[in-house]
Amino acid sequence: MAQRFDYLIIGSGIAGLYAALLARAHGSVCVLTKGSIDECNTKYAQGGIAAAVGRDDGPDLHLKDTIEAGAGLVDEEAARILVEAAADRIHDLVDFGVPFDSADGEVSLGREAAHSRNRILHAGGDSTGAHIELSLSGLARLSRITIKEYVQVEDIVVEEGRATGVRAIDTRTNLADRFDAGAVVLATGGCGQLYRVSTNPDVATGDGVALGYRAGAEIRDMEFIQFHPTALRMPGVPIFLISEAVRGEGGVLRNARGERFMPRYDDRAELAPRDVVARAIVREMAETGSDAVYLDVTHLDAARVSARFPQIYRYCLDHGLDITTESIPVSPAAHYMMGGVRTNTWGETTVRGLYACGEVACTGVHGANRLASNSLLETVVFAKRVVQRTLERDGEAAAASPEARALPDATAHEGAPMPDRAAVQSLMWEKVGIVRDAAGLAEAAARLGAWRATTAGRGDGDRASHELANMALAGALVADAALVREESRGAHYRTDFPEPRDEWRRHIVYRKGA
Ligand SMILES: Cc1cc2nc3c(=O)[nH]c(=O)nc-3n(C[C@H](O)[C@H](O)[C@H](O)COP(=O)(O)OP(=O)(O)OC[C@H]3O[C@@H](n4cnc5c(N)ncnc54)[C@H](O)[C@@H]3O)c2cc1C
Repeated sequence: MAQRFDYLIIGSGIAGLYAALLARAHGSVCVLTKGSIDECNTKYAQGGIAAAVGRDDGPDLHLKDTIEAGAGLVDEEAARILVEAAADRIHDLVDFGVPFDSADGEVSLGREAAHSRNRILHAGGDSTGAHIELSLSGLARLSRITIKEYVQVEDIVVEEGRATGVRAIDTRTNLADRFDAGAVVLATGGCGQLYRVSTNPDVATGDGVALGYRAGAEIRDMEFIQFHPTALRMPGVPIFLISEAVRGEGGVLRNARGERFMPRYDDRAELAPRDVVARAIVREMAETGSDAVYLDVTHLDAARVSARFPQIYRYCLDHGLDITTESIPVSPAAHYMMGGVRTNTWGETTVRGLYACGEVACTGVHGANRLASNSLLETVVFAKRVVQRTLERDGEAAAASPEARALPDATAHEGAPMPDRAAVQSLMWEKVGIVRDAAGLAEAAARLGAWRATTAGRGDGDRASHELANMALAGALVADAALVREESRGAHYRTDFPEPRDEWRRHIVYRKGA
């Protein structure tokens, strides 16, 4: 017998927990999450959350920066909602117990790339995400919310065009279960694990995009994957993000020859948009024959560095690197999914009764490139609107896009072996990564198409098999969209089409059966 709730929320990062905490006032709420409650991208967020609350700042300036970063594809209505609601959502987080840092009685505001003002609120210095996750999960556990850890959703149940629940497995026993709901909310986060080098934890396998696509929802902007320029690159040391805020505080990038190079690429130097910095690093690494460049903060006050970035300082020190006296070896890593399940400004997807918020959703606020620290903000602004919407109208859907296309049919080759996770990650990193071209993308699309067919409905019915099938499908969406988009824009860069093209100032949308 299926268990029934008014709200079924899939995912326990900031989007899922914040939505659950708001929804609990309006009905029964169940959060399903495939690992422990705090296994999510949210926990690792360092820099902070953007909000135009400084004296010299305002929503219009924040909007301008967001639109500029998005390279012509930002949905202005959604972005205006984002920046105008920021201060109120920060108040909500404070009410939920998030301890944002302050100095002299005023909230501390950091600076990050492509922001024209200091507007990044942080907690515990560079431990913002950990504080958010701890505060929200602690509160959720104390409330009437049902939290089911180690439950992986494998499919959305759609009946007569409406999402009515989910099929799931207990990841410890592999036993199947079914949950019914009035509103099904996807809050499953991103897909960084598609790539061999990624800042994202193991759970970020693009499940929500695959669940949405299979359920008939539209998926948009998947070619836009943000690569963070500076992840720690030390042999044998797990990949760890070195926040943008380190460059915001004055950190400079040098190549293996010790030369500062960013001013040669962009007037904004180290604070240029992430795609510009990531590509510059790739080029410098190739030219110097090195697998890293160096982020140097040794000229900054050592006490300030360790106080402002306690997590980074401690992590590096634990691995034998004192960042106050030595440069940090870094290289780019897959970081954030700008695209996802397409929603309107109320978080409604194109399937009735199915909502999406957080990184899994494509609201349009990021366009082709996300402005740093806008993602945590997006999660709470649109999670709030999802809950509001469920109170106003029942099970409606976003309007369908006339331009939606289906992925090419997946065909398995006779006797083709099952891929493993590492094979998908290597293919994506090498052919669908920071620098792309038609030949590599076509090869990747063909292989992912075959793997989609090989993995669909096969495997052992365990978490790993479901994740692999979802990765093949999400990866196929990224590769196909990147092949179709014959230009360079935002985070999507092709050597065979190195400039933006006016005719491509539009979105690529997928829908099964379109
Ligand atoms: C290292 C790092 C640093 C970052 N720094 C910043 C920053 O400073 N500022 C900023 O704005 N953004 C930052 N980001 C991005 C930001 O953290 C994320 O975009 C945001 O936390 C996403 O929140 P979410 O709730 O949508 O997803 P997540 O926090 O990733 O949560 C997704 C949840 O869904 C669950 N899930 C997934 N699939 C399933 C399934 N099939 N069934 C059940 N459960 C499932 C996962 O287990 C997880 O609990 C950073 C990201 C990383 C990785």
